[in-house]
Amino acid sequence: MQIFDCPFCGERNETEFHFVAEAGKVRPEPAREVTPELWASYLHTKNNPRGTSREIWRHLGCGELFAMRRDTVSMAVIAVESLGGNER
Ligand SMILES: [Zn+2]
Repeated sequence: MQIFDCPFCGERNETEFHFVAEAGKVRPEPAREVTPELWASYLHTKNNPRGTSREIWRHLGCGELFAMRRDTVSMAVIAVESLGGNER
């Protein structure tokens, strides 16, 4: 079991959090020119880097979205920040 740090509520059990998406992923545009294959890739293809990853998570307790940098090998949380930019 791991403890995550919500930027709004503080430390909570990992079961209170839900992974949302990779941070920095750019939505393909313009919409009318996006093929089904490109849209499917945008939705379902993940980089899954070995090492540091920046991801968007939601704390189910407060419902807020925030960014988390973590090491995908050690599972250590490096930093969390509100999407407004307040890093902890
Ligand atoms: Zn929270």
